[in-house]
Amino acid sequence: MSELRDKLIECPVCLETYDSVRRLPRTLPCVHSLCLPCAARLLDGTQLRCPECRREFNIPGGVRQLPGNPTLASLVEEHERVAGPPQPAADSQQDSPGTGREAQDPVQVKHWASDTK
Ligand SMILES: [Zn+2]
Ligand SMILES: [Zn+2]
Repeated sequence: MSELRDKLIECPVCLETYDSVRRLPRTLPCVHSLCLPCAARLLDGTQLRCPECRREFNIPGGVRQLPGNPTLASLVEEHERVAGPPQPAADSQQDSPGTGREAQDPVQVKHWASDTK
């Protein structure tokens, strides 16, 4: 059963597990689901084509208007309770490595003026 659950809480587009922070499961009018970032990426103007059944939907309010799936959400919550909270690793990796390290090379004062005249 847990394999089926793992499949259910997996976004069919990016094949990542949904989470309750960033990769929120969204449900299309065709009842297929995908994660919010993928929905945002697939949205073309106000048109969103379902990656599973290829039907196109008009989503004038954007992907945030898409309803969540309560069943999926509770599965995700349960998954996170077992597997731990979603890791913010993907975000922190994008931070520049220098953040927090104030020690830099000493500022070299260049006397351009002495060159020009
Ligand atoms: Zn996705
Ligand atoms: Zn669909």
